[in-house]
Amino acid sequence: MDKARIYVTKPDLPPLEKFIPYLEKIWESRILTNNGPYLQLFEQALCSYLGVQHISLFSNGTLALMTALEALNISGEVITTPYTFVATAQSLYWRHLTPVFVDIEPDSCNLDPKLIEDAITPETTAILPVHTYGHPCKIGAIARIAEKHGLSVIYDAAHAFGVRFQGRTLLDFGDLSIVSFHATKVFHTFEGGAVICHDAGMKQHLDDLKNFGFRDEVTIEAPGINGKMSEFNAAFGLLQLQYADRALQRRRDIAARYRNALRGIRGITFFSPAEDCTENASYFPVLVDGDFPLERDDLYQLLKQRGIYARRYFFPLISDIPLFRTMPGAEKLRTGTARRIADQILCLPIYTSLEDREIDIITSIIRTTR
Ligand SMILES: *Cc1c(COP(=O)(O)O)cnc(C)c1O
Repeated sequence: MDKARIYVTKPDLPPLEKFIPYLEKIWESRILTNNGPYLQLFEQALCSYLGVQHISLFSNGTLALMTALEALNISGEVITTPYTFVATAQSLYWRHLTPVFVDIEPDSCNLDPKLIEDAITPETTAILPVHTYGHPCKIGAIARIAEKHGLSVIYDAAHAFGVRFQGRTLLDFGDLSIVSFHATKVFHTFEGGAVICHDAGMKQHLDDLKNFGFRDEVTIEAPGINGKMSEFNAAFGLLQLQYADRALQRRRDIAARYRNALRGIRGITFFSPAEDCTENASYFPVLVDGDFPLERDDLYQLLKQRGIYARRYFFPLISDIPLFRTMPGAEKLRTGTARRIADQILCLPIYTSLEDREIDIITSIIRTTR
């Protein structure tokens, strides 16, 4: 990899020598997967770190999401956002569910609760909002709508590890929340994910589903899948968790430095943490609007020419991808907030080893653009 380049993200890795003893234990025990000792330790450690009751670990966030939909028996139509990573809508597709796209709010980039009720039909069984960039959804409003119409709420909290909201982890809301531990996420296990749930029965059900539906050696209680996290990933997660607070703090410092340097530049706006929310600074999205001297794509190219790989995340909208273009709600999104934001968004590099000096280079390019 070219050292001079600055990518939008770079995964954290603890010192290699710290991981060797974990590997030695795995080699000794020969327990490689299937609810092994590291998996159990990692689940307990995450529960206490996050302050939640039950967590079921998965091999990735997408399988966690698909299994969550199965566990709650979701059918028919699911109200969701077009402004997300494609896995959100694809998980619905794989379970033969119909995504119904509803526009987002400009201040958070999350599903707009005011528009949800209009999209509910007799086929609707669930709402699948995303805490985009770790920005909290309007949880109270969404819960009231869900209760009134008897719908389940599953949060795609893939971006939300380390976010505290109203004194709790943001991963603890809704009927179920799913998080991703993919290498590009704030906290990762190479590949990985989890479902956070509120009771032991659901935890058992999720554990069974991710292990082919096995209840015991001879009983298959449900149409399961293989979503198990291996001992390698669980051991790595256990080690990585020791570094999580430091990593989150460094990210918050980077976000603060960006905000200071970008404040007052015409045509550039950024997001501030919501009230009663401690951000995880998982991304640093800015909007490039008509007052900036360059179009968003031109700024993206200019940065790239200087070796800085920003990312148009999320662009294009899910509702514009051929697979989903004909789904309910997609038409209305040809105009609207999600469209505007997808056309203006640019995520700047943010990762723990990004240096202050590099942040200053990035922001001065943006500041001096004519
Ligand atoms: C990363 C991501 C996923 C998928 O997680 P994987 O662990 O990569 O399968 C789902 N939804 C969103 C919003 C994501 O960013």
